[in-house]
Amino acid sequence: MVCFLVGICLTIMRIRVARLVCLWGLACPHYFDGRPTKPETPPMSSAERTHLAERYLDDRCEDGRYQADVLYTSEEIEFWVHKFDPANSVEDNIDIVKSILRVRYPHGVQIIESAEAFDSQCGKFWMARGMDIWGDDEFLFHELVLTAGLIVHECGHGWNYDASESDSGWYTFFLSENYTIDVRLWPGDKPRTLIYDDFFSSQVVSNVFDDTYISPGAPTSASGFVPTLDEWLQYNRSLAVAYAFHDYIRYANAIDGVLTFIWYNQRYLFRVRNMYPEVYHQMMSDRGTRKTILWLWGQSWRLLEHALEIPQLGSKASSQVGKLFQAVQNPMLLREIQRVRVADGCATQ
Ligand SMILES: [Zn+2]
Repeated sequence: MVCFLVGICLTIMRIRVARLVCLWGLACPHYFDGRPTKPETPPMSSAERTHLAERYLDDRCEDGRYQADVLYTSEEIEFWVHKFDPANSVEDNIDIVKSILRVRYPHGVQIIESAEAFDSQCGKFWMARGMDIWGDDEFLFHELVLTAGLIVHECGHGWNYDASESDSGWYTFFLSENYTIDVRLWPGDKPRTLIYDDFFSSQVVSNVFDDTYISPGAPTSASGFVPTLDEWLQYNRSLAVAYAFHDYIRYANAIDGVLTFIWYNQRYLFRVRNMYPEVYHQMMSDRGTRKTILWLWGQSWRLLEHALEIPQLGSKASSQVGKLFQAVQNPMLLREIQRVRVADGCATQ
């Protein structure tokens, strides 16, 4: 298969071909970075967190119309918590993960089972990886929840990829339970390493995600814009899972992941528009690209509005969350999202 989508192809290789040499640890460092820590105060004041969606979303456009596919529910999962045992098998644990997702984040089960329709091992493979990563001493329930986020993230890549006809120049995004959209793949797509060391990069130095996604030579740095959008979607979902089970999460980098991919996508748009106007024009001429950018922007802020109140969902270095939060609010970068709205015909300036 001609592979336009290096990053996604790597993911699929990881799932299908390279099970012996799993690169996931490189691709999703947010799960590695967190360490048990006592909750800190939220990384920003309540005034800063209030009405984020109202501030950043436009009701006339795709982003403002986004309806959250997860809102925290205190729905009991104690039955499954008691069923969990550190000595459980992969099969036992995948059953528990699907059961608790059914209660608090049903879309997660849809994602896993849809991916399993193409690759029956998807859920089990990533469960085994999670148990490997976090099970050094003893695999605990909060680590099972982190693994649920990993499985949803990686099977989410797989579901999109498997349903896509990359050779035909289209990529399918399953954005929510009942919203699917096709995005055009352009042969002239620029690698995302383009944004490494750009004008904005000094605002957040040493971002743990850079060495996986955008640094020269990073495993997926040759990926273009569509795989970067796919990462944005999957990091939104990682946060959605963490948020749904935040009463069981002790630590995570889920907020960092979402803010990082908002920032990467804003910077990519800025860079391509300035350096490759013809490529930018192609991107903006595609309805699927415009709608997907705006939809993901809406999803991120709806999630962040709630998640930012919960310190353990961001990295231990909460100053990094604060820096990322400031970075994505750079007026030049906010303007990139507004340009997409204008191109989509829902805003005038
Ligand atoms: Zn990913």
